[in-house]
Amino acid sequence: MQIRILHHECCGSGHCLDLAPGAFALDSKNKAVVLDPESETPERLLEAAEACPSSAILLLDDEGNTVFP
Ligand code: SF4
Repeated sequence: MQIRILHHECCGSGHCLDLAPGAFALDSKNKAVVLDPESETPERLLEAAEACPSSAILLLDDEGNTVFP
C-alpha cells in the first residue's frame, strides 16, 4: 500500500498516528508525514485514512490504483 498526504489539507489532528503509529508521524510544522506503510496492516491504514478529519490521506495499491477515498 502507498500513502499520499495532502499536506495543505492536514490540520495536525494526529488521528492517523494514533491509529497507525508505524506509518504516520507529525513533522515540525505539525503536518503528517509517511513513515513505513508496510509496518501497518492495510486494514489499519484504511482505518487511519477514514478517521482523518481533513480527508488528507489517500491510499493507493502497489499498482498506483486508488484504494481510498
Ligand atoms: S489524521 Fe489527517 S489531519 Fe490528522 S494528522 Fe493525520 S493526515 Fe493530518
